Amino acid sequence: MGLFTKDIQTFDDLFLHQLQDVYFAENQITKALPRMIEKATDPELKQGFETHLRETEGQITRLERVFALLGEEPKGATCPAIEGIIKEANEVASDIADKAVLDAALIASAQAVEHYEITRYGTLIAWATQLGREQEAQILKSILDEEYATDDKLTKMATTKANAKAEAVSEPV
Ligand code: FE
Ligand code: FE
Ligand code: FE
Repeated sequence: MGLFTKDIQTFDDLFLHQLQDVYFAENQITKALPRMIEKATDPELKQGFETHLRETEGQITRLERVFALLGEEPKGATCPAIEGIIKEANEVASDIADKAVLDAALIASAQAVEHYEITRYGTLIAWATQLGREQEAQILKSILDEEYATDDKLTKMATTKANAKAEAVSEPV
């Protein structure tokens, strides 16, 4: 960013920046998920993380398609928000010895990631639509649907078993 010019001048620039931001985020998520798969104990949770890792790889390919539609090279822009969410997830996980409590924490961390993604894709879809970029909006919507579905699955896992298992091993009050 220069003294007399700013990198983001137009709404199109802002859209591209947000796309680069989420492209960076998805790439960071593919690096974080293997660690979460390794730490998860519940087989359904482990499997869920594995499924979402594959999905995330597919999302990156679809984001590259959006870049292509814009006539741009795929490029990431550092996103301090996702870096912070992942850093916090790692810190909390490394402080937990009990496997059931760790599973509950991993679900909570994963939901923070999904909610971050949901806000980003929601904005990107609204901006793409405003800019008349229907094809881009459709692709982004297909990604958003996966993030919502993942978040729902995590809520279900937490409330139907993981939280209860975590409570069962906790110290009596
Ligand atoms: Fe994603
Ligand atoms: Fe960001
Ligand atoms: Fe996701």
